Amino acid sequence: MNSHTDIVAFVKHGAETRGIRLSEVAFPDEIVLAPGASERLPAYLKEKGHRRALLVGDPLTMAAANGDELADALRELGIAAEATLVKPNAAGDVVADEATIVQTLLDIQQHGADVAIAVGAGTLHDITRYAAYTAGLPFVSVPTAPSVDGFTSKGAPLLIRGDKITVPAIGPAAIFADTDILVQAPGAMVAAGFGDMLGKYTSLFDWKVGHALGGEDYDPYVAELTAMALNECVASVEAIGARTPAGIETLTRALIVSGLAMLIFGQSHSASGAEHHLSHYWEMELLRTGRRQVLHGAKVGAACAVIVEHYRRWLGQAAAADASGPAAALAAQLGDRLPEVAGWLGELPDAPRIRELLRTAGGPALPEALGIEGELVARSLREADEIRPGRKTLLRMINGRR
Ligand SMILES: [Zn+2]
Repeated sequence: MNSHTDIVAFVKHGAETRGIRLSEVAFPDEIVLAPGASERLPAYLKEKGHRRALLVGDPLTMAAANGDELADALRELGIAAEATLVKPNAAGDVVADEATIVQTLLDIQQHGADVAIAVGAGTLHDITRYAAYTAGLPFVSVPTAPSVDGFTSKGAPLLIRGDKITVPAIGPAAIFADTDILVQAPGAMVAAGFGDMLGKYTSLFDWKVGHALGGEDYDPYVAELTAMALNECVASVEAIGARTPAGIETLTRALIVSGLAMLIFGQSHSASGAEHHLSHYWEMELLRTGRRQVLHGAKVGAACAVIVEHYRRWLGQAAAADASGPAAALAAQLGDRLPEVAGWLGELPDAPRIRELLRTAGGPALPEALGIEGELVARSLREADEIRPGRKTLLRMINGRR
């Protein structure tokens, strides 16, 4: 997929050649991934008949995206533009909680906005997506960092009374991913985006296992799109780590494609398996104990290596002739498909290689480097599958749960 390909057209064409109909999928009207893409925003809003726009960001993301210039460009086209600067919580993090959602909703009401524009990374998208949805408005995405694959998501993970829940909201009406802005993103956020993509190794594996042994629905095209996006990122890891324009574009496109794949399937199986359940478990523990948040993708990348190691050990024990106890129980659950499942895992890079990739992308590779202690890792391996009891993963089978 080359740099000038329209991403939605690419995804639709791939489906067409396989005889798959995507007419029911609500794709964004427009996805622009290019240098200067944000300059296309004012004309798009004008074409759609919007008259009052609210830009939602924080001081850093607004500066990164030249929010003042963007607002001026909107006003020049006769669109009244205001900005919400979302406030951080007591720990200093901008989070999608009651306070930031109400702050954004109040500004939407006071300004009489007819469209909300997320200017920022994942969390600002979640705040804007949910506030816009609640106010009955469309929202438009101007990402400032290639840090997650959730830009196109319809669901919003929110923190309500300290608990993380994902609620239905809306996907973006359009995405203007400006690589001139994205190349300026901090290295840690770029590495986190790469970590979120690396996590597809284990999410795609868990999906295959869940389909083969747990009756989960499966869509080969969605799996293929996700794997393609993952492989392109891995092939470009040096350029991503060096944050070259080409590397940043490859990573951003991969994150968008992974998001569109979820949109097509209507569920998150392709992009979220046991590595995401571990990451969520760690996140909740950090929240409970009042510690600073760690970037989603940084946790997912580190968790991916932990899961690969854990799965290798358990499948090895289950395959042993003298398997006993929980390993024998796992072997019994997998039955005659054990060699096949072990073969799928064998196709994945091993844990040291995954950690090497994370480091090359400029990020931390071990949970300890993220402040996630060994006891928490061990506990999450025993309990994290309970975060998503309906989702069949190998972790769930290892833990002896149906
Ligand atoms: Zn993720």
